Amino acid sequence: MTQPAAVSGRVDEEAFVSLKDEIAAYVANEGEEWTRRIEEERAVPPGLRAELQARGYLSIAAPEEYGGRGIPFSRWLELLELFSMSHASLRMIVHVANGVWRAVDQFATPEQRERFVLPAVNGDGVVAFTLTEPTAGTGADLRCEVEREGDTYYLSGEKHLITFGVHCDRWLLFARLAGTTGAEGTIALLVDRDTPNVQVEDMGESMGCRGTDHGHLVFDRAPVPVTDTLGEEGKGLQVAFGGFLTPSRIAVAMTCVGLAQRAQNLAAEHAAKRVTFGKPLSQRQAISFALAENAADIEASRQLVLHAARRWEAGQADAAVLSSMSKLVAVDMLTRVTDKALQAHGGIGFWASSPIERVYRDARAQRFEEGTNEIQKTIIAREVFAPVHATIAERQVG
Ligand SMILES: Cc1cc2nc3c(=O)[nH]c(=O)nc-3n(C[C@H](O)[C@H](O)[C@H](O)COP(=O)(O)OP(=O)(O)OC[C@H]3O[C@@H](n4cnc5c(N)ncnc54)[C@H](O)[C@@H]3O)c2cc1C
Repeated sequence: MTQPAAVSGRVDEEAFVSLKDEIAAYVANEGEEWTRRIEEERAVPPGLRAELQARGYLSIAAPEEYGGRGIPFSRWLELLELFSMSHASLRMIVHVANGVWRAVDQFATPEQRERFVLPAVNGDGVVAFTLTEPTAGTGADLRCEVEREGDTYYLSGEKHLITFGVHCDRWLLFARLAGTTGAEGTIALLVDRDTPNVQVEDMGESMGCRGTDHGHLVFDRAPVPVTDTLGEEGKGLQVAFGGFLTPSRIAVAMTCVGLAQRAQNLAAEHAAKRVTFGKPLSQRQAISFALAENAADIEASRQLVLHAARRWEAGQADAAVLSSMSKLVAVDMLTRVTDKALQAHGGIGFWASSPIERVYRDARAQRFEEGTNEIQKTIIAREVFAPVHATIAERQVG
């Protein structure tokens, strides 16, 4: 394994500001047109990914030597916030393309970098992160298993809820060596979408994030070349939960900030226009205070997310727990903000003709991405109690 490329350093501020303006205009114009089409057609038109790729939006956060724009992580998040103001399916394409290369890259051999990372960066090789199973907990509990025969693994088991699981080029899939239990014995594989002995079904319509396909996959002794293993055999979950998860959680937290800001903008606009009993809602304390609380809530989350991102960029150990904190705080904030934003719209906000209706539904999905709140709290609690347990243990020894 050679060292993965790092994205760091300064950005050209003038060029960055114009990129930000360009993305904000894209989201407000083309983004709204795509939103209308996705909600109407209940599918993501293939032209969307192609347009995002042609505009260079799928490779903003990747290193220049890989063909990306080399924008450092914390600055990329400023742009991700803007994309997250759009439809969840558009945000998902941009977010995954700008992040999944990182998961593969840090474990890739030079040959795997050529085959998997570079296509993922230039948008030609769509990689679907394939962990969740219908019959096991997410993580060391997983049950998909492989049996090795010579240079081939035979993969059996089930996965579901997999974003882009139907329309992808590879599944970055986590399984275990037959006969093992727990985190030991796990394996990460880059499984070719055209592998035989795999049944792939689209899971159909979901509450939000409409249009994006979510795959239910059943493997029955599907052959996977051993050379398509990522990282060490037996340590597959390091690929899923290693260095990749921290930036990925921080990025999901920022998508919550962007969507919350969109809800807030819609609510503010509505409240300024809607007149009841002779006054616009914006002049009613009940409504204006609700939106003032939203503004403070969004800003607090944004700053925590950016703080976590900068700690990660600086290589600080607390970045991991900060990533869980930022995801927990941002997703709870998004729940509060979208609820108040819908309330400020009154009953009309409940109808699909109001943009807030779609924003409210899309927001609910965020509570499952990159670990639920329950999982984030488990991680944070571990950090809370680690020093306390250490002190007690020291006293007992003394
Ligand atoms: C829109 C969307 C897109 C997704 N995309 C992907 C994807 O691309 N790839 C992928 O692999 N997965 C994906 N998922 C799945 C997602 O990661 C899981 O839904 C999430 O991790 C929760 O796992 P689960 O659904 O199996 O819930 P379960 O494990 O069944 O949990 C149910 C509830 O119990 C809680 N719980 C479970 N175990 C514990 C525990 N030990 N302690 C305390 N509480 C617990 C959970 O937090 C949850 O609230 C997606 C989900 C959604 C909604």
